Amino acid sequence: MSINLINLSKAKHTFFASLALALLSGACFAEGAVQWGYEGKVGPSNWGSLEKEFATCKVGQMQAPIDIPSKSATAVTAPITTKYKASAGEIINNGHTIQVALADGGSAMLGGVDYKILQLHFHTPAEEKIDGKGFPINAHLVHKSADGKLAVIGVLFNEGSENKSLKEVFANMPAKEGKVALKSNFDATSILPSSLAYYSYSGSLTTPPCSEGVSFYILKAPIELSKDQLNAFKKVFKMNARPLQPLNGRKITQGS
Ligand SMILES: [Zn+2]
Repeated sequence: MSINLINLSKAKHTFFASLALALLSGACFAEGAVQWGYEGKVGPSNWGSLEKEFATCKVGQMQAPIDIPSKSATAVTAPITTKYKASAGEIINNGHTIQVALADGGSAMLGGVDYKILQLHFHTPAEEKIDGKGFPINAHLVHKSADGKLAVIGVLFNEGSENKSLKEVFANMPAKEGKVALKSNFDATSILPSSLAYYSYSGSLTTPPCSEGVSFYILKAPIELSKDQLNAFKKVFKMNARPLQPLNGRKITQGS
């Protein structure tokens, strides 16, 4: 395998370590660390071909994100209830987004199942749309149930007032791959709108390997962040949203 100079220019610590190892051993470098991104040859339209494990990105029929057709959301499902709590955590730049990883952030009841919150992260522009309407940025709150199922609460943002709950996170995002500890504990409740009314659909990870079986709960009510906060994120990630995926007859439900 040849060494890609474009990748080299975006190098990361782990990448250099792999490269050094590869050069020393003469081995095919960075095995298992496939480079993917949001543009060009490694962009979303090619994710499914980059590596065997990413095939679902191409052949999956229940992929995320989607443009939610609100009128088709007729079935009503249980309201979301949360038992989040302030938790220690880390602000991580993983090369694809800024993630706030929570040590012990509590849980949410989603569709009658208790899910523990693991982390939240951001996409710009927002990945989901509602009736074709887009938003400048969204947060995905990622949860896992005791039996290993994933559920994501999506929070949409409009540009407006400064988001005080995200002040520390957005002021301390690592510009390069890496992480810093949160100085103040973070409570996921603080970035929820007052109404937890939602649209729900069954989707996938929106990043490789695009695994399916992920339940999405997209909150109807957007919240706000300031233009400065949005620009601070865009300085680190200009664009990190997967394009919309076909609905393929999936049913949308909603709850209040
Ligand atoms: Zn996401």
